[in-house]
Amino acid sequence: MSDDCIFCKIVAKEIPGEIVYADEYVTAFRDIQPAAPVHVLIVPNKHIPSMNEVDEEDAVLIGRMHLAAKQVAEQEGIAERGYRLVINTGDEGGQVVYHLHLHLMGGKKLSIPKYN
Ligand code: 5GP
Ligand code: ZN
Repeated sequence: MSDDCIFCKIVAKEIPGEIVYADEYVTAFRDIQPAAPVHVLIVPNKHIPSMNEVDEEDAVLIGRMHLAAKQVAEQEGIAERGYRLVINTGDEGGQVVYHLHLHLMGGKKLSIPKYN
């Protein structure tokens, strides 16, 4: 738990979040500014700032985040139609909140982002 981290506070239920899935390892809640009809953030329950701080011992946790995303996609009814999973890392990667999170987006045909 990082005292000044908004996602740690949502995990700890200190501030409201629309939680759609939670287990021992991860919590998933709706993005406050959805970029798609379904936009859920899957975060580790422990504070990891970004992919840059992930290490060997977090391998299972990273897998758990993806398994939770798969489950939420099924729950939300978008598994068959398809969805996108994204992890923004660092300033140039577009990361704004420094608690690792996996974006699950779907519910419409998503455009392919331009990277140049
Ligand atoms: P990033 O740009 O760091 O990959 O994504 C951060 C995401 O967190 C953004 O999509 C933003 O809308 C979302 N977000 C920021 N603050 C909050 C919050 O307080 N609650 C929720 N549910 N989402 C948030
Ligand atoms: Zn945190």
